[in-house]
Amino acid sequence: MKEVSRKRILVTGGAGFLGSHLCERLVTQGHDVLCVDNFYTGTKDNIAHLLDCANFELMRHDVTFPLYVEVDEIYNLACPASPIHYQHDPVQTTKTSVHGAINMLGLAKRVGAQIFQASTSEVYGDARVHPQKEDYWGHVNPIGPRSCYDEGKRCAETLFMDYRRQHGLEIRIARIFNTYGPRMHPADGRVVSNFVMQALSGEPLTVYGDGSQTRSFCFVDDMIEAFVRLMNLPEYPDGPVNLGNPHEVSMVEIAQRVVEITGSSSAIEFRPLPVDDPWHRQPDIARAKQLLAWEPHTSLDDGLAQTVRYFAALLQSASGARAEAGATASSAFRSIQPAA
Ligand code: NAD
Ligand code: UDP
Ligand code: UDP
Repeated sequence: MKEVSRKRILVTGGAGFLGSHLCERLVTQGHDVLCVDNFYTGTKDNIAHLLDCANFELMRHDVTFPLYVEVDEIYNLACPASPIHYQHDPVQTTKTSVHGAINMLGLAKRVGAQIFQASTSEVYGDARVHPQKEDYWGHVNPIGPRSCYDEGKRCAETLFMDYRRQHGLEIRIARIFNTYGPRMHPADGRVVSNFVMQALSGEPLTVYGDGSQTRSFCFVDDMIEAFVRLMNLPEYPDGPVNLGNPHEVSMVEIAQRVVEITGSSSAIEFRPLPVDDPWHRQPDIARAKQLLAWEPHTSLDDGLAQTVRYFAALLQSASGARAEAGATASSAFRSIQPAA
């Protein structure tokens, strides 16, 4: 591995899906990692394997409140990411995105830290441009059920750009497209976790709408590589960078892939499409390729196979525990259906 100088790095949302993989990567590189999380959607299980590392520290804290620590870099990932979770307490979602960003930017300003924002393809909303490039301003409903997340993340981008223009902060903004892999929450309602859990439990796979809507799925390892490269980029030009895998698939196709990879006998069932569900999503990653010399390498089948192994192990360990209590394993992680 390439030698890197040891830095003090804060990861907010570090006990979540992406955050836990990022913490692991930074700890392995030898940095001093401070993981801050309020465990709203993340769990201690995700970072349990790091707790004994001398260069890893865990702090329970809500980023909507000020935080005074001394660090060299900040990765700001704190925010629920699945529609079920961010719509559960929408006011808190906006507070986390906006107040959280202000506090982390204030912290970065005080200590002179470089700061990375986990933004999202949701800033493009139900895009009218396809694939989405960074210069597209988006098509976002400001008052719908997804708005707390979409507008919160858009406002956070504004804050990052203004702290750069007004205070000269060293910022990085990643527009992350759908990412999947081990440590996704089994009941977060996202399509990959839902389909895999349903297939492994022998339940029907719930395709919303007619399943012809598309997403482009990036495996978590590829995404974390891009995070680190973006943060370490010496010269950062103005504006955000799309990160994702341009391989676009429909929801019916992904259901079929999951059924095949799991060898499940589950049927596919159609359910109503949630409100404001974006129709197509595909990143144009030309900018990331050029700036970071990066592109995703994990195929959908490889990534799904790794994800299936993770969820299968999770179900197996739950089934042992639940058998004693007389319940089924899958009921421990019941998939949540959004209101149509
Ligand atoms: P996640 O829900 O697994 O992780 C979010 C983490 O933030 C959790 O550990 C949660 O407990 C924590 N958190 C939430 N509110 C907080 C608060 N107020 N204070 C402190 N901690 C708080 O989601 P994820 O998929 O790991 O997403 C991480 C980041 O990446 C999010 O900002 C999300 O918007 C962004 N993102 C993710 C995806 C994706 O496909 N996974 C796509 C686009 C953007
Ligand atoms: N802040 C923080 N940690 C710090 C410095 C600031 O959490 O180390 C918070 C603080 O609560 C403040 C916010 O960041 O409200 C924005 O700070 P900034 O200095 O930009 O603005 P001001 O303090 O003038 O509101
Ligand atoms: N979806 C689905 N079945 C599910 C969960 C989601 O068909 O059980 C669809 C959802 O309507 C959307 C796509 O899958 O069109 C991706 O949904 P997800 O919540 O994973 O991510 P996002 O909508 O935020 O991109």
